[in-house]
Amino acid sequence: MHTQKKEALLEISELEAGFMINKQFYNAVDKVSFKVNPGKVICVVGESGCGKSVMSLSIMGLLPKQVGKVARGTIRFQGRNLTEITNDEYNKIRGKEIGMIFQEPMTALNPVFTIGYQLEEVLFNHLKISKKEARQRSIELLSHVGIPRPEKIVDQFPHQLSGGMRQRVMIAMAISCQPKLLIADEPTTALDVTIQAQILELLRDIQEKSGMAVMLITHDLGVVAEMADEVMVMYAGKIVEQGTADQIFNDPKHPYLQLLLEAIPRLDEEKDRLYSIKGIVPSIVNMPKTGCRFVSRCPKAMPDCSEVSPDMGDVGFEHKVRCLLYPESYPKEVTEASR
Ligand code: SF4
Repeated sequence: MHTQKKEALLEISELEAGFMINKQFYNAVDKVSFKVNPGKVICVVGESGCGKSVMSLSIMGLLPKQVGKVARGTIRFQGRNLTEITNDEYNKIRGKEIGMIFQEPMTALNPVFTIGYQLEEVLFNHLKISKKEARQRSIELLSHVGIPRPEKIVDQFPHQLSGGMRQRVMIAMAISCQPKLLIADEPTTALDVTIQAQILELLRDIQEKSGMAVMLITHDLGVVAEMADEVMVMYAGKIVEQGTADQIFNDPKHPYLQLLLEAIPRLDEEKDRLYSIKGIVPSIVNMPKTGCRFVSRCPKAMPDCSEVSPDMGDVGFEHKVRCLLYPESYPKEVTEASR
């Protein structure tokens, strides 16, 4: 029987991106492949320095030109390879087809222009509408993201709003042209816990109503639990585990993920101290050349782990892991050589 294959909205394949440091190029994202399907929320999780933000900036074409670049691989959005398009073509997609929310709205909003001016500018750039319509639409958008008295706020400057309100403005801006994909990079990190919960609820509500796909980048597994359909765990530039939210939380395979889950504070457990993973993520200039990149921090490391670089192996339906505790992760050449 002929079955129709579902087209991915975004398909990243063997992506390598990074920076020139002392005239040498280092990958911060190393051969990363994944898909985002329409209408789904995919969360990318990992500590700072794991390559999450470099990946999202690569997708948006926003890596700093002088030092950063996509070195290899493809980023297909609606079938089009974004690594081959011009800056002008990128400008038509950014903000319209793909929206983005950053961690700190104060750095993304221009302090010298009113909220209304900045919202209207996005609308003008991408939609053929009059000044009057853009203003009306800006007010509607502010109201849509839960900003009270939007007719007044529209004429205010970013510094006159609280952090939570500014993040709501960023969300309004990001969704103003009804993008098919929203990339949210640590959208709640700079906010206090109550406001975090409100912003997540708002994002989920907008996502459900609009049906847009969301790629949410976070170091916070609590946020992942709230939002994700699918989860991708990154460590030192590589994906180390990928699966549905259910698989990630109820059947974590990779020792790094298991430790991340253990580090979540729980109200039903009395702990004297909060657990943290020992050591730090290796810097991009100091990546181990062979073996598993997590080896120096892994409580389950084995002799092979310093020698053999694990591949992503299937450990369940759409559940993949990169760890030598699972035979599926041994590279083919190593398995064949030992036969
Ligand atoms: Fe730990 Fe080895 Fe698995 Fe790496 S491959 S996560 S070091 S057990």
